[in-house]
Amino acid sequence: MSRRILVVEDEDALCTLLEYNLEAGGFVPVIVRDGDEALLRLAEEEFDLAILDWMLPGTSGIKICRRIRAAPETRSLPVIMLTARGEEDDRVRGLDTGADDYVTKPFSVSELLARIRAILRRGGDEGDALRAGDIALDAQTRRVHRGEREIHLGPTEFRLLETLMKRPGRVYSREQLLDLVWGRDVYVEARTVDVHVGRLRKALNRPNEPDPLRTVRAAGYAFDETYG
Ligand code: CA
Repeated sequence: MSRRILVVEDEDALCTLLEYNLEAGGFVPVIVRDGDEALLRLAEEEFDLAILDWMLPGTSGIKICRRIRAAPETRSLPVIMLTARGEEDDRVRGLDTGADDYVTKPFSVSELLARIRAILRRGGDEGDALRAGDIALDAQTRRVHRGEREIHLGPTEFRLLETLMKRPGRVYSREQLLDLVWGRDVYVEARTVDVHVGRLRKALNRPNEPDPLRTVRAAGYAFDETYG
């Protein structure tokens, strides 16, 4: 699946340049021109990385970055901050925004792409092993444990658990789970999600154990960080 990159930048020429080059690099760029719209998109959509300009109309890049770090559903989203050469650059670094990397304008697009790839690789390595409560999921060996007990899951249940565990606490609608687990091009009915969540629960939970999967009425499902 292509990685979705949110670009928040108000300079038209730079937007065009980034859109073109990110697409050419195999990414799916989503270009947003002001900070307030960026916050809306971040609340509604999934991204693999965000590129934030520091100086923006509406909410500034620094504030967006802090909001990203403060919200449980986006706190692990990698962020690259774009800054202008000179004083701004030093100041923004000193502000401890929580960005993963800083790129000073003007920059070479190939350098930016290299940094994006480096950050995504890093994130991928961390993402291979997920742990929450007494549940551990290893994406490389495709093994799941609850405490000492190994849990055997079908491929769909595995991807479902992996998706939910990547963003503990985040509520996913059935439609979002269909996109993320089954893929956008596959036609599956929304109630299929319920069937697979049921199977996942059955595999994960013994009768006396708390259920880490939370059903949110009329909304969807979440992996509950605070179960047990
Ligand atoms: Ca700007």
